[in-house]
Amino acid sequence: MSQEGSRMYDVIIIGSGPAGLTAAIYTSRARLKTLVVAGQTWGGQLMLTTEVENFPGFKEGILGPDLMNNMKEQAESFGAEISFDNATAVDFSSEPFKIATGSNEYEGKSVIVATGASSKWLGLDSEKRLRGRGVSVCATCDAAFFKEKRVVVVGGGDTAIEEALVLSKFAREVKVIHRRDELRASKFLQDRAFKETKIQFVWNSTVQEILGESRVEGVRLKRTDSGEESQLACEGVFIAIGYKPNTEIFKGQIELDNKGYVVARDETKTSVDGVFVAGDVEDDRYRQAVTAAGAGCRAALDVERYLERS
Ligand code: NAP
Repeated sequence: MSQEGSRMYDVIIIGSGPAGLTAAIYTSRARLKTLVVAGQTWGGQLMLTTEVENFPGFKEGILGPDLMNNMKEQAESFGAEISFDNATAVDFSSEPFKIATGSNEYEGKSVIVATGASSKWLGLDSEKRLRGRGVSVCATCDAAFFKEKRVVVVGGGDTAIEEALVLSKFAREVKVIHRRDELRASKFLQDRAFKETKIQFVWNSTVQEILGESRVEGVRLKRTDSGEESQLACEGVFIAIGYKPNTEIFKGQIELDNKGYVVARDETKTSVDGVFVAGDVEDDRYRQAVTAAGAGCRAALDVERYLERS
């Protein structure tokens, strides 16, 4: 890593979703010199949603990007610095820890890893165009917008079935589109889904295109066995084909599990003393903005204690 522009911080937070920015609010308010390496597309997954109705304190709901902007400004008001560069490499082999971006290298007495996880997407142009316009990756966030509507869920794992079950409380009909003829999801979730009359399954099928100009109007499907194509009308498409933790730059630096998630030990610690973790990058279970924010708070308090001792 180059030394040009190297600067020392008490704590460097990598990631700027609810976990990273909540950590920054706490550390900067505790008068720790704080840098958030936020990334060029800062703000995390909430930047991809519209209305957030389940974040405590906003009884009328709040737009995802507005919520993230509030958190950023709150952190800045306490003195946190934000870099809108992507972290490109880290060196956690000795203190101070080093984090490189395209243009700078920063040094930190401690680090909080809060880079989150990204939903996997199908990779269709139509999916990109209609994201937030009927295409979603979060039923917990968006199911309430589909009251009495027809929705499809793509995928056959636990996430897809959980999404379908959440959606069945609101939607008129939920069709799960799966590329094989059996689910990967746990037996328990399968049994629940098979009992729910609003949920139906479209087997051996993949989504080729999401139809609609400015709102979702349907999907074009292709059977994996016969190649036959068909269309299905719907107002919502939930992509639930898995998540990917954003941990590429941490390989070989801190312990990751076999799915690539950071391994947390003794609450927010990682395998390197002084490097902490918060949010979806270590949590593939809850994955909520509010749980990530709580995790950011916990990591920040652990950093404070760590710096007091060292
Ligand atoms: P997953 O288990 O990897 O399942 C992904 C599903 O999407 C699979 O059915 C897969 O099909 C399908 N898929 C993948 N890529 C696709 C593509 N390009 N086009 C169409 N379909 C595609 O992911 P997940 O459901 O998100 O679960 C991730 C982990 O979290 C799992 O370990 C799961 O057990 C855990 N989890 C647990 C809970 C719970 O316990 N309540 C809830 C959610 C998640 P194939 O089956 O054909 O590969």
